Amino acid sequence: MIKLKTDKSIEWCPGCGNFGILDTFEVVLEELIAEGTPLEKFIIVSGVGNHAKIVDYLHVNSFYSIHGRALPVAEAIKLADPESKVICFVGDGDSFAEGLDHLIFAAKRNIDITVVVHDNRTYALATGQFTPTSQEEFTGGTMPEGAKEESFNPLELLLVSGATFIGRGYPIKKDHFKKILKEAIVHKGFSIVDVLQVCVTFNNLYTAYSKNVYEIVDENLDNSDEALKKIRIWNYKDSDEPIPIGSFYKTNKTDFEEKYQRLNLDMKTRNQKIDNILNHRITDTKEYNE
Ligand code: SF4
Ligand SMILES: [Mg+2]
Repeated sequence: MIKLKTDKSIEWCPGCGNFGILDTFEVVLEELIAEGTPLEKFIIVSGVGNHAKIVDYLHVNSFYSIHGRALPVAEAIKLADPESKVICFVGDGDSFAEGLDHLIFAAKRNIDITVVVHDNRTYALATGQFTPTSQEEFTGGTMPEGAKEESFNPLELLLVSGATFIGRGYPIKKDHFKKILKEAIVHKGFSIVDVLQVCVTFNNLYTAYSKNVYEIVDENLDNSDEALKKIRIWNYKDSDEPIPIGSFYKTNKTDFEEKYQRLNLDMKTRNQKIDNILNHRITDTKEYNE
């Protein structure tokens, strides 16, 4: 059995929901490796936030990106090696605010990558400001009177943008979360899992989630009208109302890299073309500086 966890000491607060994501991902990875995908084909990419440390805790090829920019990095990796399984770990502020445009366009392209959003509904690394999915009147150091903006529903936006797999998970429901995460990673096309990752320090929603989270039944998954209805059951404003988790939408559509492959460039030709561009840039810097 390959040892996937590194020996690095884990710097998250005790009780942080990130532990559940790390542990579940490790199990999914072990299963997928046992089912035949080589470990070296997995590449994980993180943005910036407490979630991002996940890349330090696993012996998996990784790229620690910058705030909001995990998606373009992941897309480039996927296009360079279409056989890779690229999984982005991002935060809610990281992806629904700073990097929202990248998220929308990755969904629009239906590029075959997976995005796992550690949605603790606050900028935890920055000590608790509100994000696009914070509950109404969320309070923090920079808005002690409560946030005055309404939250938005990112899954609704991703559905109309073209995502072909949309799900939500709650790591406390381990087996269910594992199922959603694995389904998303195996899915061919752009997949996103919004994870109810509790930040015990700045937005502790364990009590509310434990009371309100429920599993929806997998049915009519390729019907976008049905998906929209399921996605709209909960709009992130309040956490004290029914919150469905599960797969909301799953459909088959040609993915971006498949269309890209139709350019018929083999790996050798592709590498030559890249070398030509790089060499040109290096030798002709004068031209670029003028
Ligand atoms: S501040 Fe919140 S998100 Fe960050 S490690 Fe602690 S509990 Fe987790
Ligand atoms: Mg966050």
